[in-house]
Amino acid sequence: MNEVRIGVVGCAGRMGQALLREITAAEGAVIAGGIERPGHATLGQDVAAQAGLEAIGVAVGDDAQALFASADVVLDFTAPEASVVHARLAAESGTRIVIGTTGIEAEDNAKIAEAATKVAIVQAANMSLGVNLLLALTRQAASILDPDFDIEVIEMHHRHKVDAPSGTALALGQAAALGRAVEHDQVADRGRDGITGPRRRGDIGYAVLRGGNVAGEHSVVFAADNERIELTHKAGDRSIFARGGVRAALWVRDQPAGLYSVADVLGFSG
Ligand code: NAD
Repeated sequence: MNEVRIGVVGCAGRMGQALLREITAAEGAVIAGGIERPGHATLGQDVAAQAGLEAIGVAVGDDAQALFASADVVLDFTAPEASVVHARLAAESGTRIVIGTTGIEAEDNAKIAEAATKVAIVQAANMSLGVNLLLALTRQAASILDPDFDIEVIEMHHRHKVDAPSGTALALGQAAALGRAVEHDQVADRGRDGITGPRRRGDIGYAVLRGGNVAGEHSVVFAADNERIELTHKAGDRSIFARGGVRAALWVRDQPAGLYSVADVLGFSG
């Protein structure tokens, strides 16, 4: 099988460097090139060497069009305004793209969806294969277990995290609500303190822990009388997101136009 040539935009970023390491480690994948913002300090340096890898003789550039022309698939974990431009370039060149950038507004997501009518795009705010499996399992368990099972989502992150509950915790709650065919915002209980009264049947509760350098831990608890099911995912570091991104890149190379999720990559419905 031909190796998949993967380009990385934002190749000097934290995720960009992690992606270069994962491409190098993955079977069937090779670095096609990497680009950065015009004026970036790494321009002209070896793409692989600037990520701590053995040099490959390809310099960091700033020409997105040239990168799309030379790659089979482009990985984009950058910034919302950049990802929209790159989705358009993907549609124009026919080069597939994997977008992991977060914080993209609805208007820009619509532009990405528009580009996906012309080329295959994988987009996910959490590329971890494990978290995406946890989302699917949560939805499935919630569809099977009736509201005698109280659903609680517990998450723990490092002391620097500024938002709570985490986006992934909320996505898990939404997956549970979807499984139960209820409106998430009507059943979400996002914080308890003081005399809260008894738990409301059917609620989805959240509990948040902060401390140390924990990369991210999420559990969904289904608690009935005398029995309890707990689904848990623990992230070690950001390499899991990069691994998911590269796996998505290898998969999307052969896909027809469309907007895909990590669940599609893994072959289960999310
Ligand atoms: P970062 O700031 O370390 O890296 C972003 C890089 O993109 C920078 O080097 C920047 O110069 C570059 N960049 C920005 N605009 C560009 C452009 N137009 N052309 C070329 N390069 C450009 O950030 P990070 O921690 O690597 O995160 C990047 C994004 O990925 C964020 O949105 C983050 O939330 C997201 N992320 C997603 C996942 C996931 O699983 N989907 C996981 C981790 C991070």
